Amino acid sequence: MAAPGLRPGLGRLFEMPAALGRVRRAYGTSQAFAEVLRLPKKQLTKLVFPLQELERHLVPDSKHEFHLKIFDPSLEDIARAESIFTVTAQNRIEYLSSAERLDHAPALPRPEVCFIGRSNVGKSSLIKALFSLAPDVEVRVSKKPGHTKKMNFFKVGKYFTLVDMPGYGYRAPEDFVDMVETYLKERKNLMRTFLLVDSVVGIQKTDNIAVEMCEEFALPYVMVLTKIDKSSKGHLLKQVLQIQKFVDTKTQGCFPQLFPVSAVTYSGIHLLRCFIADITGNLKTHCFQFS
Ligand code: GDP
Repeated sequence: MAAPGLRPGLGRLFEMPAALGRVRRAYGTSQAFAEVLRLPKKQLTKLVFPLQELERHLVPDSKHEFHLKIFDPSLEDIARAESIFTVTAQNRIEYLSSAERLDHAPALPRPEVCFIGRSNVGKSSLIKALFSLAPDVEVRVSKKPGHTKKMNFFKVGKYFTLVDMPGYGYRAPEDFVDMVETYLKERKNLMRTFLLVDSVVGIQKTDNIAVEMCEEFALPYVMVLTKIDKSSKGHLLKQVLQIQKFVDTKTQGCFPQLFPVSAVTYSGIHLLRCFIADITGNLKTHCFQFS
């Protein structure tokens, strides 16, 4: 039986060291994740399930305020997702092309996910962290004012395409809004939009523009909270609770579970990879629970 409070998959692995070996062998687990699996369980939980780690600091009455188990993969599922994100001769992960307008975007048959967020929210850093198992992938950053901002397309093997959308500022130029709006509204194979919010400052006015866009077009989207290593636990908990309340009360299309991440400590990165692999139809974990 799993230790009290531990998700079943996690508890099983801790109690059966042999299972660790099985996970590594069965999925050709990357070196990096094999190391994660060797961490003491407290550290492992903090790294792989940061929301669960934060939940421990909530007073018992407010535990229901986090939706922890809607996407609830086992460590085996996460290990499988790692192999999708690992570059090999058979699994090419690479930058494909850039486009200023949707009609210049490559026509790609695979499912697509896109990342949007304010400039400086940590989008390039997050995408680099997601691609850390394919270190040669170049995530382009164009921050100089006046430079044309483009959508960048990355191929992840035969599995899916990841699109890095230009960051928006307080005064997003019209052509930028047109580009993003048109893409979000018309891209047929877009499976999920990842909307990045800086966990240090919470939802800002400009983030609301992106939320309104996703809501207006009835897109399924997910809120990813960046830079969680920067705040004290108390501050982070406060922000996460506020953002969770916003999602619960003000949104229709937003996935109810938040994804806190750090591109510095890699906290939350493995879980996010697993979620992306799953919602693009490549993992079939069957671990979604909608209540
Ligand atoms: P972008 O404009 O959204 O692509 O943002 P960047 O990825 O360039 O990040 C903006 C700034 O935030 C840079 O100084 C990054 O080093 C920093 N940053 C990004 N992600 C993190 C993170 O997870 N933790 C910390 N501490 N800093 C981050």
